Amino acid sequence: MPVSRLNPSNFSNLKHPRRQLQKIPLPRHKYNIITGMFEFKITGKLAGRGRTGVFSTPHGDLATPVFMPVGTHASVKSVNPRELKEIGAQIILANNYHLFLRPGSDVIAKLGGLHAFMNWDKPILTDSGGFQVWSLGEPGGGLAKITPDGVEFRSHLDGTVNFLSPEIAIDSEVKLGADIIMAFDQCTSDTAKKDAARTALELTNTWLVRGVKEWQKHDTEKQALFGIIQGALHEDLRREAAQFVVAQDLPGIAIGGETIGYNMSGTKAVIDWIADYLPENKPRYTMGLGLKPSDVLTAISLGIDMFDCVAPTRLARNGALYTGKVISKNGEYCFESNYPNERINIGNKEFAGDAGPIDENCDCPTCKNFSRAYLHHLFRSKELLYYSLASVHNLRLMLKTVEATKELASRPQS
Ligand SMILES: [Zn+2]
Repeated sequence: MPVSRLNPSNFSNLKHPRRQLQKIPLPRHKYNIITGMFEFKITGKLAGRGRTGVFSTPHGDLATPVFMPVGTHASVKSVNPRELKEIGAQIILANNYHLFLRPGSDVIAKLGGLHAFMNWDKPILTDSGGFQVWSLGEPGGGLAKITPDGVEFRSHLDGTVNFLSPEIAIDSEVKLGADIIMAFDQCTSDTAKKDAARTALELTNTWLVRGVKEWQKHDTEKQALFGIIQGALHEDLRREAAQFVVAQDLPGIAIGGETIGYNMSGTKAVIDWIADYLPENKPRYTMGLGLKPSDVLTAISLGIDMFDCVAPTRLARNGALYTGKVISKNGEYCFESNYPNERINIGNKEFAGDAGPIDENCDCPTCKNFSRAYLHHLFRSKELLYYSLASVHNLRLMLKTVEATKELASRPQS
């Protein structure tokens, strides 16, 4: 049975401009509209359940929906922060697990935090490391041991034994200083059986409460904590998880698990199951979604505001370059491409003499200045320039795909 959205009175301030809102004294623990330097406003409607909004953070405003390029090690692989800005990236993601191990959160804190360390003055989101330690412990991995306290794991770098708990993860994320920080959770596989998914979910929820307590010891007005809804592909568990996470009244809500972005029909089902529980006035984030441009269109039409994926840069390094464009068809967004999986394989012989750009509609610096033939040659020769040019293109196409939904919404339908 659908449950009505919690606390509908939270919506009432949405129509008011920020000036008026600032006059209203909000209790410190209420994050619905404003917490410290954070604010989320819905500004318009997109196809399906989609919406546009502005998510204000200490390092600037994010126009949502927003695709977040992934810079796991405090670097979006082979792309300079200056180029990221030029192609329209508004926020990047970094990973607490990797930075905790190397160079260490204390080192980054001493150097002024992640923004100063990597010379990126726009918003940053850090993932807690829950997903990474889960991957280490998966069958065949065997490098992590999960206990109620936290996760003991062997570093993938040097085999040393380390420990992450909800408290240690938050402390580390506080030192890194990202604008948005994620709770430490236990991920579950796409195929997790119900018993295993329930055990992981209960641990995730307990860890969330511990993480919130730890976060509240720090400056909650400068860093927004998001809770994560788990529950694998089990409807009742996802609904239970959604209610639990929403009840924590945090600044934002994430949907996690291996399913998200990896299994798109499963992702759609999960979002549909929990849609009625998600408050309208908080940003919603699907973690690890964005393998193909059409996947982000699906997420947008389901009312998701934020998504990230390593795929654009990883695929680019492997020769797979996105081509195509967003069209509006019967009130829905479609990604029209002449190629399977919405991408070409630049290493194929057919591109050896192709003087055209990767994508004739793309406005990225790579497409403006270089041919498919040149990229084919660079890729075959393993020239370092290839990785940069290819990554810039794939990221720009993904960012442009999201921008196109807003442009289509503002145009009259033909
Ligand atoms: Zn391009």
